[in-house]
Amino acid sequence: MKELIRKQREFFDSNQTKDIDFRIVQLKKFKNLLKDTTKKLNTAIFDDFRKSAFDTITCEISMIQAEIDLAIKKVKTWSKRKRVKTDLLNFPGKSYIIPEPLGVSLIIGAWNYPYFISLAPVVAALAAGNTVVLKPSELPASTSRVMAEIINNSFDPSYFTVVQGGIAETEALLSERFDKIFFTGSTTVGRIVYQAAAKHLTPVTLEMGGKNPAFILDSTSIKIYVKRLIWAKFLNAGQTCIAPDYVLIPRQLKKQFIEAAIKEIKCQHFSIENHNYVQIITEKHIERLSRLLEKEKIVFGGSYNQQSRIFEPTIMDNVTFDDPVMQEEIFGPILPLITFDSLDSVIKEIKSRQKPLACYIFTSNRELKDKILDEISFGGGAVNDALMHIANLNMPFGGVGESGIGSYHGEFGFKTFSHYKSIFEKSLLFESDLKYYPRTDFKLKLIKMMFK
Ligand code: NAD
Repeated sequence: MKELIRKQREFFDSNQTKDIDFRIVQLKKFKNLLKDTTKKLNTAIFDDFRKSAFDTITCEISMIQAEIDLAIKKVKTWSKRKRVKTDLLNFPGKSYIIPEPLGVSLIIGAWNYPYFISLAPVVAALAAGNTVVLKPSELPASTSRVMAEIINNSFDPSYFTVVQGGIAETEALLSERFDKIFFTGSTTVGRIVYQAAAKHLTPVTLEMGGKNPAFILDSTSIKIYVKRLIWAKFLNAGQTCIAPDYVLIPRQLKKQFIEAAIKEIKCQHFSIENHNYVQIITEKHIERLSRLLEKEKIVFGGSYNQQSRIFEPTIMDNVTFDDPVMQEEIFGPILPLITFDSLDSVIKEIKSRQKPLACYIFTSNRELKDKILDEISFGGGAVNDALMHIANLNMPFGGVGESGIGSYHGEFGFKTFSHYKSIFEKSLLFESDLKYYPRTDFKLKLIKMMFK
């Protein structure tokens, strides 16, 4: 690892990545590589947890390609020096900001959307002119292997390389000095990464998880609310960091919601055969999910199979904030319902917990929508929809508090992997003696006026 990082530093110091045309060539090469190997990528992810080509292309490959296309189109603009106004004190002169790459970056991925989560930050890092060591999650072994194979066969390892492995390999990487660490994963491991980065004062971006509430506040468009919510919850069998974790609903709407939700789940025919469902990633996670079930609270589903690693879409009713299912991020196909009589009291409850990564509000009532948007802090979200905010590359994607530090996507990703160097360039035309000896009351008065 030491040798690899030394070589990457040497490559970075050669200044090749500072050239914007070089970056564009590499991004194009990356795009073609994804295009040429899509079949291979689809096969590997199917092997790991039976994800369909449809979901892999729509939720992963196409989204990475969209990031690449945007970066190719905009990287020249994003990298430009930006002139800013110069203050009166510094007159005459000019001020500008130079974006510069941070250097050698480490990107650590999670397993649930293994391609998108590993490769979208890579696009940002390369566009910003960094070198990259990528460490994908080891849990989906085939996807990790195929990413290593196609990338390591195509790119100079001194510029962009994949290191496969689990905890030991990640620890070994984290003991080295990087100029940037970008981590996606659990809050528990995020803390470990943050501590390791602190040793070298390396800047981090931490994309972590949390419990994402979904408010259903009226029944005006209940059918469409439910359709969007059920799709978002059970996509990837609930193994989505921004999936609605649980539903908050006024008591009087609950019955109607449950009926509509069950009807929608049945209508969607979630299964591997229908290409719209996946396995739970490991048996350990099946066990973890099964421990969150309370039999008497299940109103739909609840069955699972350890061997096939299939967990049925499940709805739990009469859930309270004290139940086991509310003590951790579910990250699976269980949808708990919490009914409430007072919106203020549930808002208070959410605010007393860790800040969510996402929040969803289904309502046609503008005041209620604004109340929730104003009062609850969370990473990002949607009104009358769920998940889809992630697809808009004009918005930053990231958490807040325990759900994340920093953000990416589009230009926000470029900024995440850049340092903005502020430069003031003084004119040599004349020199005022305001700041020099002797200090007089008149000079002090003038300087004070200039600060105003
Ligand atoms: P994880 O934290 O277990 O693993 C993430 C990465 O860290 C993996 O590459 C793994 O090899 C490494 N790792 C694991 N244990 C480690 C240790 N002790 N020391 C050093 N490295 C270690 O997370 P996961 O199970 O892969 O992913 C699920 C979590 O990721 C969920 O909490 C989910 O919400 C979150 N997630 C967040 C986003 C986001 O964009 N915010 C996206 C996807 C997943």
